[in-house]
Amino acid sequence: MTKHIFVTGGVVSSLGKGLNASSIGMLLESHGLRIGLQKFDPYVNVDPGTMSPFEHGEIYVTEDGAEADLDLGHYERFTNAVMNKDCNFTTGSIYYSVITKERQGKYLGKTIQVIPHITNEIKDCIKKLVNPDTDVVISEIGGIVGDIESQPFLEAIRQFGREVGRENVLYIHLTLIPYLRAADEIKTKPTQHSVGMLRQAGIEPDILICRTEKSLSTDIKEKLSLFCNVDIESIIEEKDVKPYLYEIPLLLVEQGLDKIILKKLHLKTNGNTLAKWTKMLDTLKNPQKVTEIAIVGKYIGLQSAYESIYEALTHGGIGNSAEVKERRIESGDIEKDGAEKHLKGCKGILIPGGFGERGVEGKIEAVRYARENKIPYLGLCLGMHCATIEFARNVCNLKDANSTEFNANTPHPVICLLEEQKNIVNKGGTMRLGAQPCRLKTNTISYKCYGQELISERHRHRYEFNNKYKDIFASKGIVFGGFTLDNELVEIIELKDHPWFVAVQFHPEFKSKPTNPHPLFKEFIRATLNVCK
Ligand code: GLN
Repeated sequence: MTKHIFVTGGVVSSLGKGLNASSIGMLLESHGLRIGLQKFDPYVNVDPGTMSPFEHGEIYVTEDGAEADLDLGHYERFTNAVMNKDCNFTTGSIYYSVITKERQGKYLGKTIQVIPHITNEIKDCIKKLVNPDTDVVISEIGGIVGDIESQPFLEAIRQFGREVGRENVLYIHLTLIPYLRAADEIKTKPTQHSVGMLRQAGIEPDILICRTEKSLSTDIKEKLSLFCNVDIESIIEEKDVKPYLYEIPLLLVEQGLDKIILKKLHLKTNGNTLAKWTKMLDTLKNPQKVTEIAIVGKYIGLQSAYESIYEALTHGGIGNSAEVKERRIESGDIEKDGAEKHLKGCKGILIPGGFGERGVEGKIEAVRYARENKIPYLGLCLGMHCATIEFARNVCNLKDANSTEFNANTPHPVICLLEEQKNIVNKGGTMRLGAQPCRLKTNTISYKCYGQELISERHRHRYEFNNKYKDIFASKGIVFGGFTLDNELVEIIELKDHPWFVAVQFHPEFKSKPTNPHPLFKEFIRATLNVCK
């Protein structure tokens, strides 16, 4: 029988529910258990795909093409669970499904209500991850307890616990114990209140994970235990682990969280091993070399906007026993001050994916700087478009070449709308999305990185290299590193006379893990280390 863990949050958001859910998943896997992970987001958008990174951070893309919350990225980086469309639901998607069924007459004769129709739909979404190959499903409830929009989700997980039996369900509440500097005290009251609210919703938390700046004394733990009705050993202290996110599971295991969970869920295992993870952490914490990568984007002040990329760079570092210093540059600043001022001295340049015209010219300048100064370059999606435009303008002399995304009337549309996109009007979930196969050309940098001809990578785009320009590009020194299997779409471009220049139409960052760095990121970092010598 599949067991269930529900992770809720209290007091404030951004406490790291996603990282904690991932860490718990990783610990259970270390005991040989097979896990599933999913997230419920209480906002009304059907998915985050139509939101700006300023609102939501990065949009994570799954193999099957869901545009999803970035916590799914943490789930995949920490565990072996493979995310899909059943791993992220929102208030919007739940209502969309219920309303669609209502229109289809599936509830004919009935009044449709939050309880039971919406809560039943939520429970059905939880059950989607239940199967004979999954021992534990971990469901994270986004937002915090007390939010109006969280209520149907809390009600659904309460009902779920009753239905499958309390012994098969665990409620873990992540909370904040603030430190008041003036009083030099840490305070349990906000946690008491948030647990109080959970109990009003009919949920008794089994475990509290307490984010805190200061250690929790026995007194504080006793107080929390008494007022929150949680066993004292189930009160877990979680201090900041920055900059090593991957330390969280070890912090939890030190306090026996894995054993507590197994006991409470009546799960038996033959012990655990964390050897691979601790080895990875050891490499991360004791680098032998250092490199510095410039990331030129337009949401640079916002860590979450490029979360998977920053992580994949770290993984590339782990793969080379190197520390990766990041130089985060707003592309608008390059437009203002020129490339030299911001890029001088960096060992590698990366341009992430993106949408819209703002900042594109600065990114194109950054590509020029990388090409001319022979600095290793990795372009991801829009980063490939910028590389194409730069090469067209400055090497092929195609004046005012551009992507039709930024200039519909460019005389040289070197990047243009995909054929299949031409009749699409709706914006949500309609890009070329998810895993697509690609065949690499042998004798390319990419082929050397992957060590195989056939690869599969995740996509999220509407625009693509315009094949009309293939010949001129090839004659001027571009190598086409990979194509879709029908040879119709260019997936990778490389530069001939350059130490390491790879720009890809896809998003390799979504498939990188700390214990298994993505080959492109690993080799990119390696190339930057060679430049350092
Ligand atoms: N805006 C570009 C497109 O739609 C690139 C997308 C991306 O970088 N993910 O094709």
